[in-house]
Amino acid sequence: MAETSGHVERTISVDFVRRKLTALLSQAAWQLPEDYLAALRQAHEQEIAPLGQEIIRLLLVNADRAQAERLPSCQDTGMAILFIEVGQEVRFVGGDVNTAIEEAVRQAYRPLRKSVVADPLLRQNTGDNTPPIVHYAIVPGHHVRLRVMLKGFGAELMSRLAMFPPSVGVEGVKRFVVETVKEAGPNACPPVIVGVGLGGSFDTVALLAKRALMRPLGTSNPTPHLAALEQELLEDINALGIGPQGFGGTVTALGVHVVAAPTHIAALPVAVNLNCSAPRRAEVLL
Ligand code: SF4
Repeated sequence: MAETSGHVERTISVDFVRRKLTALLSQAAWQLPEDYLAALRQAHEQEIAPLGQEIIRLLLVNADRAQAERLPSCQDTGMAILFIEVGQEVRFVGGDVNTAIEEAVRQAYRPLRKSVVADPLLRQNTGDNTPPIVHYAIVPGHHVRLRVMLKGFGAELMSRLAMFPPSVGVEGVKRFVVETVKEAGPNACPPVIVGVGLGGSFDTVALLAKRALMRPLGTSNPTPHLAALEQELLEDINALGIGPQGFGGTVTALGVHVVAAPTHIAALPVAVNLNCSAPRRAEVLL
């Protein structure tokens, strides 16, 4: 820490960021979050379809094996999505932090499947799973918080966004969310986690839905009417009968997470970002 003109500044080496991020991404590939495993164990008790229950049992066995043998929990190790909070009293030293972040992804993905193409039309694989998708936020304080998601694209592919007029109301929102999960069927590798973004603008509503997926399962939106909406959506989705891996059953989703933001009087933006049965995320505070 160094004091400059009355405030304490903390310097963090970009190499330290690189090492921490490499370890975090590697670990996320083989260790699924404890909140997800707890929700899956509960789903195993709740699922009434025998085949659905057996699939959940196999997902739990797979998660155990992945962790014990430090092998990827799914062959699709996804695209690295990073949420990075930087305290405003932090100064990075020793190089370019963006280069260090990209290098961390390159190193972590060495033993993992490379799934990133440089151009969406020409489709040439970058060969090292870079670049990651990075969202920065500047926050008060002296810390850096790294949060990562290794996002499988089976579920990403089935995600949807709509710019509705406000007149569709909450019923229109519910219809869109449930319809999105229904259309996804087995392709999103259920049981899914449903991230819902409400409000903002065209460009930010999808990010709200992605942020919703970073929230641990078993938690609710702190705003009562949004917590109630999450519960209603979960019940409607689980009534679809899609079930684990789409083979039928009562557990199609493990949770619905809604994140809302202020929006314009003329619109009701809605985004649905789905996560699959390999919802890899992890975080570390530097
Ligand atoms: S969507 Fe998820 S579970 Fe399905 S293949 Fe991709 S990473 Fe694996």
